[in-house]
Amino acid sequence: MEKSIITQAEKTKKIRSAFIVKNKQYLTPHLIRVVFEINEHQIELLANVRSGSNNKIFVPAEEGGVPLIRTYTNRKIDLENRELSIDFVAHGDNGPASAWASQAKSGDSLEIGMKESTRPLIPDADFYLLAGDATALPIICAIAEQFPPYVTAKIILEVTDKDDELILCSAANISIEWLHNPHPEEGSRLAEVVKSVQFPSGVLKEYVYIAAEYATVQELRTHFKTTLQWDPHGLYICSYWKAGQAETP
Ligand SMILES: Cc1cc2nc3c(=O)[nH]c(=O)nc-3n(C[C@H](O)[C@H](O)[C@H](O)COP(=O)(O)OP(=O)(O)OC[C@H]3O[C@@H](n4cnc5c(N)ncnc54)[C@H](O)[C@@H]3O)c2cc1C
Repeated sequence: MEKSIITQAEKTKKIRSAFIVKNKQYLTPHLIRVVFEINEHQIELLANVRSGSNNKIFVPAEEGGVPLIRTYTNRKIDLENRELSIDFVAHGDNGPASAWASQAKSGDSLEIGMKESTRPLIPDADFYLLAGDATALPIICAIAEQFPPYVTAKIILEVTDKDDELILCSAANISIEWLHNPHPEEGSRLAEVVKSVQFPSGVLKEYVYIAAEYATVQELRTHFKTTLQWDPHGLYICSYWKAGQAETP
């Protein structure tokens, strides 16, 4: 049975609806794209949700238990083809969301909650530094796709191996540096590489976007906020997961 709730909390609509899996593919050995159908009713719900916005997925628990909530990215919302894509890092069966994606098949149902998008994914700037690990690939790909042609961006992405690199589409002038790390739960070089970036001179407005594992984020937060005294309006930094810890029990 179709179940959806829309609440008008101030001006942002909250959406929660059961989506049916249309198909699934491995984009790379460690990244699973699950494509959900958007039905007639959901088209209206998603009309103002931007590709790259966050969601909450409700992973079904075994034997009627309470679903486990995990945070993902609406990698692509394609209303024309009625498809919602979410890219899951395949990090094994130790996580219910990762396990769900590896077992998902067409016809399966997943409840997904999200909010209407009231702002662009990132503010206007002339130069961007985007950095993240595999969990940030969806958001960084979505940001790159939405860049106007006149911006320049340096992108640093950490994935498992060479085979896990993706082609990023962008109208902007982007340069990508790939890092390889087969065991991101055991540490990462991402913070060290980000700290060594030389920002171009003469840029009017810079923006830094970082999404990665907790320890990397802690190190880079200190670097930008404390060491560099970076303008807080020019920085977004978010821990996307924490090694050895589930998002919620
Ligand atoms: C705003 C936001 C957007 C996000 N978007 C995405 C997205 O689009 N795609 C995506 O794949 N992830 C995304 N994440 C990260 C995702 O929510 C976490 O990786 C989450 O922990 C996965 O849930 P799980 O049930 O698979 O594992 P959990 O039950 O949360 O964790 C179980 C174990 O797996 C480990 N683990 C969790 N994630 C990883 C990983 N990536 N690599 C290695 N070990 C891991 C944990 O440390 C823990 O030991 C996002 C997070 C945030 C905050």
